[in-house]
Formats: sequence, structure tokens, C-alpha cells
Amino acid sequence: MTKADYIILGAGASGLMLAYRMANDSFFSSKSIVILDKEENKGNDRTWCYWEDSEGEWDSILTKSWHKIYFGSSVFSKEYEADPYSYKMIRSANFYDFLWESIKKQSNIKFVSDTIIGFNDQGEQVIIEGASDTYEANKVFNSTQIGISYENQDRYPVLKQHFLGWFIKLNSGSFDDSVATFMDFDLAQSGNTRFMYVLPLSKTEALFEYTLFSKDLLDKKEYENAIVEYLKQKGFKEYEVKETEYGSIPMTSFKFHNNNSTNLLHIGTAGGWTKASTGYTFMSTTKKTKALINFLKVESNLAKFHRTTKFWYYDLLLLDVLSKHNGVGSKLFTSLFKKTNLKTIFRFLDEESSLLEDLKIITSVPSGQFVSALIKRVF
Ligand SMILES: Cc1cc2nc3c(=O)[nH]c(=O)nc-3n(C[C@H](O)[C@H](O)[C@H](O)COP(=O)(O)OP(=O)(O)OC[C@H]3O[C@@H](n4cnc5c(N)ncnc54)[C@H](O)[C@@H]3O)c2cc1C
Repeated sequence: MTKADYIILGAGASGLMLAYRMANDSFFSSKSIVILDKEENKGNDRTWCYWEDSEGEWDSILTKSWHKIYFGSSVFSKEYEADPYSYKMIRSANFYDFLWESIKKQSNIKFVSDTIIGFNDQGEQVIIEGASDTYEANKVFNSTQIGISYENQDRYPVLKQHFLGWFIKLNSGSFDDSVATFMDFDLAQSGNTRFMYVLPLSKTEALFEYTLFSKDLLDKKEYENAIVEYLKQKGFKEYEVKETEYGSIPMTSFKFHNNNSTNLLHIGTAGGWTKASTGYTFMSTTKKTKALINFLKVESNLAKFHRTTKFWYYDLLLLDVLSKHNGVGSKLFTSLFKKTNLKTIFRFLDEESSLLEDLKIITSVPSGQFVSALIKRVF
């Protein structure tokens, strides 16, 4: 049996960020820390994007950032100066390498490659069953999906943000690489919320992601056809697909924190750190791992880490509306971008907006379906 003070299950975005923060804080240098994952480094398995007001912690490993953002739909389009925000991209291989470099300098932190089968908080410690060994720790942070049952309930709707991305290299023509397309709804909606997300890395290379907020995944061919069609519509005919990226991120207000206990905290997507209404997780993980480090210095009951805020209710209502009327996303987001400035939208999505700013957002979208969703939730 392997024993440690802290065990982190999963060396992805949240697990590694937590280990990195522990590695860089002397409070943790006397603690034994084990990171458990099937594999140590997964290379470029995802591309993380987020917006940030001015400079930020991960700026040294950015692949690219944009100061202009485009929003489009069939009835409205606009290019926004994002200032003071910029939209930032990190490719995961750079991120994993950067964090591992710091973590590996600390002799009290050990990586163990194993497949986790299950875990159980026994009151005094948590026992983890792996395929090769059994582990015991005082505190465990889980970022795997083991035991997370949001699919098997119907109290909170579950949508997915699912997408296929193509990294394109143009053989002729060029991109405007100063603008990131945040959402372009100017494509067939087919009863869902569907948009294109475009991140030009240079004049000749860009990531095109065909994205849906919906309940069901599509056949691979359908995502591919949509990207081909969009490229044609934009006049790009000669290109090569250099890499692809596929993802499906849960969008739900399911109370992930109910799975936490005194010695076990679910983190990352498994902990409900994914913004339910958008699927964005990277920046909230950056903030929450920082808060968790401070929390661990003063508090031993991990179940007390979670706080429910007004934003949980806002997300719940949006998901109630989108799950019942999946085709209205284009109209809702168009109305939001038309009537509200980008800074307020970003502050709202970052869960940093004031009540006055919330009101601006709430009154910018058609209210009918939200009112009936609210009445249903209240009664
Ligand atoms: C392709 C893709 C692109 C994304 N892009 C963005 C983005 O642009 N912006 C954004 O904010 N969010 C994005 N997300 C959402 C979110 O940021 C990521 O999913 C993020 O990686 C979540 O971090 P995590 O730690 O919760 O999970 P992960 O990073 O998935 O880490 C979980 C870890 O657990 C390990 N594991 C799982 N099961 C076991 C087991 N049984 N035994 C051992 N190890 C196990 C896995 O190997 C993995 O390393 C994206 C997600 C995907 C899939």
C-alpha cells in the first residue's frame, strides 16, 4: 500500500494545477503528495482558450492571443475591441510541460502511473483502489469521472458542449489573424444551438471548431461536413487538415459538490468547476485551485470548500431554457451581444458581475422562456 498526506487523482488541467500550486508553496513542502494518473503527459490532447483582463499567470506559455473578438449570426454581426480583455490560447502540451517542470523539482511530490478503479472516504482517511496498488491518504482531490453520476438524474438538465475542431493550413488565401471568432451562428441550426468557433494562429493557419450546445452527439461526418461547408462559404477552397480535436464537455447545474466529504474533494469538471452555461473550465480552475490552496491552510473539512452563488441559478435557468427549446441559442446570444457590451458579458460569465450588470444581461435577452423556466423551478 502507498500512503501520502495528499493524493491527487488525475494529472489533467485541475489535478496538475493543484499539484503545481502545492509545489510552489512552502506550506506543502513537508507534506507527502502523490499524483495518480493512467498516463503522465498526454501531449496536445486539447487546446484551452479563455479571456483575461490584462496580464495573467499563463502568459509565458500562450500559443496566441487576440485583442479583437467577432460575434456573428444571420441577423447581426460585430467585431469588438476586447480591451482591456484579450482572448488567450494555450496548447495543452506546453501547459503540461510547464507545470511538470516545477512539480518534478519537489522531492515530496511523486507521480504514480496506475488506473484508478474506485475510492472511499472512510472517515479518517480515503482508500483508493488502483489496478496495480492500493493507496491511502488523509485528503484526496479527485478529477476523474469515477462515481460522478450527473447522467443518471433528471432534476437538472444535462447538455453537452460538443465539437470537432480542424487545424487548417491554407494553400491559397489568408486569414485575418488579429480577430478570434467567439461564436458565429450564421449556419444551419437544425433545431439546436450550433456555431462555428474560429481561432486564426497565423495568416495561413487556423482552428475551426464546429460546436453545439445540445443533448446528443452527432456522427463524426456531420461535424466534418459543417466545417467543409463553412470554409466554402468563407471562400477557402484549398487547404490541408493538419490536426483534429474532438471534445464533449458537460453543461449542467447538477450539484457536483454533494459528492464531496470531509477528506474527499472533487475538482475540475468532476467537481462542477465547468461553467454550466458555457463549458469553459480553464480559468475557473485557475481561480479555484488558488482558492483551494488558501483554504487548505486553514480548514480541514473539504466539504466546506464549495459556495453556491447567484450564478448557479442563472446557469440553471439558461440550461432549463436551452434543454427545452434547444433551437433558441442563436436568438438568445444574438440579443445578448447586440445589447450588451463585451466587458459586461465577460464579467458576467466570469461570475464577477454586480447586480446592476446582471440586470443588463438579463434584460438583454427575450424574457418569455426564462420567466416560465423560473416559475417551474419555484413551484
Ligand atoms: C478537447 C477539449 C477542449 C477544451 N477546451 C477548453 C477551452 O478552450 N477552454 C476551457 O475553459 N475549457 C476547455 N475544455 C474543458 C476543460 O477545460 C477541460 O476538459 C479540462 O481538461 C478539464 O480538466 P480536468 O482536470 O477536470 O479533467 P482532465 O484534464 O480531463 O483530467 C482528468 C485526468 O484524469 C485521468 N483519469 C481519468 N480516469 C482515470 C482513471 N480511471 N485512472 C487514472 N487516471 C484517470 C485522465 O487521464 C486525465 O489526465 C476543453 C475540453 C476538451 C475535452
